[in-house]
Amino acid sequence: MNSTSIIQINHLKKSFGALKVLNDVEFHCDSGEVITIIGSSGSGKSTLLRCINLLETPDGGEILYHGKDILKGEINLNTHRSKVGMVFQSFNLFNNKTVLENCMIGQIKVLKRSKEEAKEKAMYYLRKVGMEAFANSSSIQLSGGQKQRVAIARALCMDPEVLLFDEPTSALDPEMVGDVLDVMKQLAEEGLTMIVVTHEMQFAHDISSRVIFMDKGIIAEQGTPQQIFENPQQERTKEFLQRYR
Ligand code: ADP
Ligand code: MG
Repeated sequence: MNSTSIIQINHLKKSFGALKVLNDVEFHCDSGEVITIIGSSGSGKSTLLRCINLLETPDGGEILYHGKDILKGEINLNTHRSKVGMVFQSFNLFNNKTVLENCMIGQIKVLKRSKEEAKEKAMYYLRKVGMEAFANSSSIQLSGGQKQRVAIARALCMDPEVLLFDEPTSALDPEMVGDVLDVMKQLAEEGLTMIVVTHEMQFAHDISSRVIFMDKGIIAEQGTPQQIFENPQQERTKEFLQRYR
């Protein structure tokens, strides 16, 4: 394990019934890395992210967060999920709350920040994602692209150490995808540690420090964007990438 690893995963296993979804996965994420995870639908990408965020309970293996196994002993889920934030394909905003309230609630409830402090932080990140003007709008009125930018701001408000993104643009109309990818690119350039499941290959090529190709519950191949996109070694990586040409 690298001394700067935030997350180190050893021998991770997860099945749903007879279906082995994660089959002895080894994975690590170091501070400052931008990791993209690519692979066919059903290969286990979401399950891997969901295990890291403790939305799924693995059947075996270890998930070390700063060297401590989060699958053992007492762990405060809300605190863990503020440090290891997640942005979902379906946004998961509170629809009955305003944009600003969405960005404040976790800060107040989990981080025990004052309303003033929470508001200041929320406005800072809403400005960053270009959604400041919508602070008092009801979330339900927003377009998908706007909702996703709010969801990213909400996650950033918790001062995460690493942010997980599960296909953040897959549910968006094509004209909204660019705005969300631009925000993510900016965050990557600023040094945020990110793990991103995506089918946007050009984006993955441009922002990643490391690309991971998953196939049938294992990490089949990983490397720099140049290695994976320009010189893949495995037949199944080549076949997968063919579909995007
Ligand atoms: P990916 O994100 O790569 O498309 P997933 O991790 O979502 O893959 O799913 C991997 C496999 O596990 C799929 O076959 C999916 O149907 C199955 N699966 C995922 N979640 C569940 C669940 N809660 N119950 C049963 N099967 C599931
Ligand atoms: Mg998925």
